[in-house]
Amino acid sequence: MVRCIMPNADKMMDFVAAHAEDLASPGLSPRPSRRVAVLSCMDTRIDVLSMLGLNRGDAHIIRNAGGLVTDDALRSLSVSQRLLGTDEIVVVMHDDCGLHRASEDDYRRALARDGVLPTWRLGAFDDVEETLRHGLGRLRTAPELPAREHIYGFVYDPETARLREVHPREVGLRG
Ligand SMILES: [Zn+2]
Repeated sequence: MVRCIMPNADKMMDFVAAHAEDLASPGLSPRPSRRVAVLSCMDTRIDVLSMLGLNRGDAHIIRNAGGLVTDDALRSLSVSQRLLGTDEIVVVMHDDCGLHRASEDDYRRALARDGVLPTWRLGAFDDVEETLRHGLGRLRTAPELPAREHIYGFVYDPETARLREVHPREVGLRG
């Protein structure tokens, strides 16, 4: 049977085969050389490495819908610190995110109609900065992470390529 459209996976296979010499990284350590882990939204407009001036081998890049501090993001960050030596975390959320003003309830209903009630939430939010602040707060109090001194959060505007820093609230630290 002839395929009308070439699936991306086929193109990817061809690309890798054609560029193996450039892509290979013999001897490059799996431990990030700049000892930083970046948690970012999966948004197509964010090219984490080039945007942040990082090269292959410099950093762990963990991505999910929203750049949210989910249990699984925390798992990866914990592995990054405890097994692979990073001690700094940068979280990148952004304006015009697909989760901004999405409906948690509608999403859940659609899943229920398909017979599934997952343990995870969509993660919809109304306020990107508040959501990022909450995520940073969670990281700052996560015992899964041995290094919590350097945790930073940014909101990226894909239209202008500007980053603005968001600081976690100091609650909890004052007791
Ligand atoms: Zn997004």
